[in-house]
Amino acid sequence: MAGIYVHVPFCQQRCSYCDFYFVTTARSHAPFVAALCKEIEAYALAYGGREPVTTVYFGGGTPSRLSLEDLNAILATIERGFDISALDEVTIEINPEDVDGAYLRGLRALGFTRVSVGIQSFFDQDLEFMNRSHTAAQAEEVLGAVNETDFTSYSVDLIFGVPGQPEEYWAANLEKAVRSGAPHISTYSLTVEAATPLARMVRDGEVTPIEDDRSGELYQFTMDYLKGSGYDHYEISSFALDGHRAVHNQSYWAHKNFLGFGPSAHSFWSDESRALRWANIRNLNRYVGLIESRGEPVEFRETLDDDTLVNEYIMLRLRTSEGFSISNLTDSHGIDLYDERVDDLAWLESEGLIHPIRNDVVRLTDAGKALCDVVTTKLMLG
Ligand code: SF4
Repeated sequence: MAGIYVHVPFCQQRCSYCDFYFVTTARSHAPFVAALCKEIEAYALAYGGREPVTTVYFGGGTPSRLSLEDLNAILATIERGFDISALDEVTIEINPEDVDGAYLRGLRALGFTRVSVGIQSFFDQDLEFMNRSHTAAQAEEVLGAVNETDFTSYSVDLIFGVPGQPEEYWAANLEKAVRSGAPHISTYSLTVEAATPLARMVRDGEVTPIEDDRSGELYQFTMDYLKGSGYDHYEISSFALDGHRAVHNQSYWAHKNFLGFGPSAHSFWSDESRALRWANIRNLNRYVGLIESRGEPVEFRETLDDDTLVNEYIMLRLRTSEGFSISNLTDSHGIDLYDERVDDLAWLESEGLIHPIRNDVVRLTDAGKALCDVVTTKLMLG
């Protein structure tokens, strides 16, 4: 039950806050698509027969920069190399400025079941601040077009905590997403990542990030609003109507195997003999060059020891509304958190960051969700 992630590194322009790997120069996509297909074919030889692929996710960058022909070529390569008989979900991230009804219908015809729409805000003032390449009008239009296409599901991404954002804009953003009928909404706080235009603006005093307390208030408002609108808050940033949880992401949070293709893509593969993680090079030209010369664009690879696996499991599972089971951890890895972290568990419970432990299950409260990193750090080994 593995997932496949495809990283498409093309964007129209650079959003001020983004630290994903992408390029904005206008260039032919052909060398990338050819290299990507070669990479997929090479991994299919080694991994294609091991587990059926249940989810495929095209992220980026902006996958909707690719033509339908290019996407078809990539999907066909995956289909040829992997067992897709149990395929459950095929998602593609799209940006409002790229797509129209014909493109969306084309995606559906290719087999995409779900789109994730990078809206971020329905207000031009926010979009200009973030240097998004679409307008508020395009954001509204694209949701109309998505609703007219028979995708199994779709998601809307929104960002809160934009400095200088009028008080009422965030509530209005949530309301617009809910009223559009979005079955899945992901919300992210605007964070200042190093080496981004936003980090430079903060350093130069042009922008003052919002206070942590204010960010916490906005997050609490988000949880209350979306839960009150019928959404299940099933992961720190993710809210879904019944039956619309993201299958691919859930598999990732469950620590299932996945293969990542494309520049900067990460992979995780664990079997009875060992657990491996590797990452591709973060440079499009070198990625293409390395595949042409030696068929291998990996720049980092490690074997994960037991403590690392346990820590990752805790970190990933804590993000979810189901949390993690202490006894499962003992059964699978021989680690008993009642021995290792009994005082920390008691402290987290007394601070209201985790729910009282029942049936050995550790789950975050709303306060804990806002401080997920703190809770995770408390419980990690080593
Ligand atoms: S479109 Fe997405 S990947 Fe591209 S720069 Fe903006 S946030 Fe980053």
